[in-house]
Amino acid sequence: MTHPPRRVPRRMTRRIGLDWDDRAHWGGGRRLPCHLCGRLAFLRDEQGRPCHKTCAETALTQIPADSIDGRYAA
Ligand SMILES: [Zn+2]
Repeated sequence: MTHPPRRVPRRMTRRIGLDWDDRAHWGGGRRLPCHLCGRLAFLRDEQGRPCHKTCAETALTQIPADSIDGRYAA
């Protein structure tokens, strides 16, 4: 049995929405260069580095699947 080629891309397109409402993510009104894109950002990531929320969300979708498995394997 043969199937027509699928047109749906196989890469993961799942959107990740981070919850950065916590005060810990607010940089106190100082804008510092985002560690991912280099543009000025008000927010801080989980490690306290300047970062846009959208940049962090995009980065999360680009983590290789095996590194995610490794993080949760323990
Ligand atoms: Zn950024």
